[in-house]
Amino acid sequence: MLIACLIGGFMKKRYIMSPGPVEIPPTVLAAAALPIIHHRTPEYRKAFAEVNEGLKYVFQTQNDILIFPAAGTGGMESAVVNLLSPGDKIIVAAIGQFGERWAKIAEAYGVNVIKVFSEWGEGSEIKKIEEALAANKDTKAVYTTLSETSTGVENDIESIAKVVAKTPAVLVVDAVSGMGAIKFKTDEWKVDVVVVGAQKGMMIPPGLAMVALSGKAKALLPASKLNKYYFSYEQALKALTKEKLPDTPYTSSVSLVLQLRESIRLIREEGLENVWARHAKVASAVRAGIKALGLKAFAAGTPSNAVTSVCMPEGLDGDALNKKIRDDYGITMAGGQGKMKGKMFRVGHLGYTDRFDAVVAIAAVEMALCELGMKIETGKGVKAVIEELLKK
Ligand SMILES: *Cc1c(COP(=O)(O)O)cnc(C)c1O
Repeated sequence: MLIACLIGGFMKKRYIMSPGPVEIPPTVLAAAALPIIHHRTPEYRKAFAEVNEGLKYVFQTQNDILIFPAAGTGGMESAVVNLLSPGDKIIVAAIGQFGERWAKIAEAYGVNVIKVFSEWGEGSEIKKIEEALAANKDTKAVYTTLSETSTGVENDIESIAKVVAKTPAVLVVDAVSGMGAIKFKTDEWKVDVVVVGAQKGMMIPPGLAMVALSGKAKALLPASKLNKYYFSYEQALKALTKEKLPDTPYTSSVSLVLQLRESIRLIREEGLENVWARHAKVASAVRAGIKALGLKAFAAGTPSNAVTSVCMPEGLDGDALNKKIRDDYGITMAGGQGKMKGKMFRVGHLGYTDRFDAVVAIAAVEMALCELGMKIETGKGVKAVIEELLKK
């Protein structure tokens, strides 16, 4: 009975199509049932080492990657407290709610934040970042976002990195909803710090934050005076390189790490390029369906292949649509965040997602719009999805 409740009852199949948490592949779910290994054993250290190596492939880096039991935001906070001192100057290039979170965290710690905020729906203007860096030569770091989950926009990290790499500042990227979904090359693009969460493209349950650190970023650690204890990179790095096999300073999230080992295995098996191509295909199909329904995409900049944000038609509330799809159809999508609450809905298509998820998502949106009284030609959205999926 309890299980029936959790999975939505026998007669209602549940889907999770939110931009995180995402659905978990069956073998990754099964990995959670493995017995707990004590975290100070060679057996666990071996698994942890394997996960570390695997993450380097997913992140496309040779840099060290630290793993903390935390929400993605914990990883973000760690990237503030370890690199900076009170009064330090940083640039936050935000393109939505999550980017603006960088500024909130930094301000909470007394950091001097220069805000290069874009209009919601747009990506960062590279020129503005360049100008801010030129006007503030003492900038310690630039913080930005890869896939802005609140607006459905993909930011041009490669171009931003080109600008930042020419200066003494480090580039810190929130890739929480982008990693494992859209193209990202940490080393080739010269990204210094990459923060990733568990419950998005990495396809495991919530609870892990991963942080990759370049040499340029590591050089900032000794001088950083912001308060920290649990999130100390210096402590975590020591444990990572202490012996032949890596470790964590405090108790590791054993089960989540074992699940991560399995999800990385799946990503390797498919191949990262194919993972990115699959996301691109599903995303283009969802966008085609939305367009065919006469709805407007919110992302005016490059749309993210991880999440599609859609403006609500005149007179309809995004939250009402979202609620109907969730409560009546059993499909969890997402509404608008922050100032866009009620004005949009968002379809997540990242991680364990495939072509037919696009059909389900658009069918649900179409049906809900009909039930909420919008006049649409039924089948139009789904037809466009299928046509897009059939394109070679
Ligand atoms: C989900 C998300 C986060 C925050 O993750 P939490 O685990 O909720 O703290 C940060 N940034 C982006 C872009 C996200 O999508």
